[in-house]
Amino acid sequence: MDQCLRISMRKSRAEITFLHGPSGELPPLEELSEGVRNTDVLLPRGAQPIPRTVMMANPKLRGIANHGVGYDNIDVASATELGIPVTNTPGVLTETTADLAWTLLMATARKIPQAHDYVSSGQWNGAIGRSFMGLDIGPGGSKTPKVLGIIGFGRIGQGMMRRSRGFKMKVRAYDPLMKEIIERTRGVEYRELDDLLGESDFITLHCPLTEETRHIIGKRELDQMKPTAVLVNSSRGPVVDETALVSALKEGKIAGAGLDVYEKEPRLSPGLAELENVVLLPHIGSSTQDTRNQMAILAAKNSIAMVRGKRPPNIVNPEVLESPEYLRKMAT
Ligand code: NAD
Repeated sequence: MDQCLRISMRKSRAEITFLHGPSGELPPLEELSEGVRNTDVLLPRGAQPIPRTVMMANPKLRGIANHGVGYDNIDVASATELGIPVTNTPGVLTETTADLAWTLLMATARKIPQAHDYVSSGQWNGAIGRSFMGLDIGPGGSKTPKVLGIIGFGRIGQGMMRRSRGFKMKVRAYDPLMKEIIERTRGVEYRELDDLLGESDFITLHCPLTEETRHIIGKRELDQMKPTAVLVNSSRGPVVDETALVSALKEGKIAGAGLDVYEKEPRLSPGLAELENVVLLPHIGSSTQDTRNQMAILAAKNSIAMVRGKRPPNIVNPEVLESPEYLRKMAT
């Protein structure tokens, strides 16, 4: 990302300061507040929290260009109040993240990492050995199509729908803001959340983290899922109550879970890592060189527009551009 960002910013002759450790560690908030004092635009990575205190450290801050599509790490309400535009990087990571979510779904259903560990650790002696009996994703020998439940039918959710077509799945989707679009989409049926949970063989989460979606999957919801169902989360960790998930997996209330994100990232809830029916990834949804480069270019374009006081292409709080706080900032 850093190299691509440098190249993108070079033309605008903007000066860049990198605030992270040698392995990309996130800076502590005090260091970030100190660094922000002399910048026009702050470009945080998706995992870097940007609370109000950091924004307040520089009354002249002209923008925050998030390097990620999810922006739950930023206190957007405070940014708007303080006259600071916030941008994200939508679209360029859709296919890469859907690829990863689909991979997680398949790897969990067919226990791929567990089977790999079994072979690579020398436990396999040629006999049938431990059972790696998996779950069908396609119709299987019985020719029964499986049901994919998508929660959050935005860009990545729709990417999952496209991937499911090759597997002849039935698709159900829950997204209160996209109900009409779902109803108009061929091959997808709208379901209220409870109905989707009871009907789906695979449930995949693609909603943003908001106050409404925090713990959208908790004990009550897990109880409604089939004992043979698999849950996939590549959205944001706190969308799932991880303690309730560990219990459901231990008790066999659901068959498995594939996770790219965690409630208290990078820490895991007690018991999660010891389970046999999980596949755990270190938040790598958009991690391909090509996509990370495109995200950096988009973040750079947003940053340059904000440095110049222009409307950035991917603004998430457009109302800020009319606010007296923003106009005052631009006038000085
Ligand atoms: P998007 O905005 O296109 O789609 C999100 C969808 O969620 C929207 O259609 C919205 O209407 C819906 N939604 C909002 N509230 C909801 C609710 N209460 N219940 C159900 N649906 C609801 O965003 P996207 O580009 O598809 O990205 C989705 C999320 O995926 C991001 O917000 C981000 O947190 C996450 N993400 C994770 C990774 C990763 O590395 N694991 C990578 C990219 C994105």
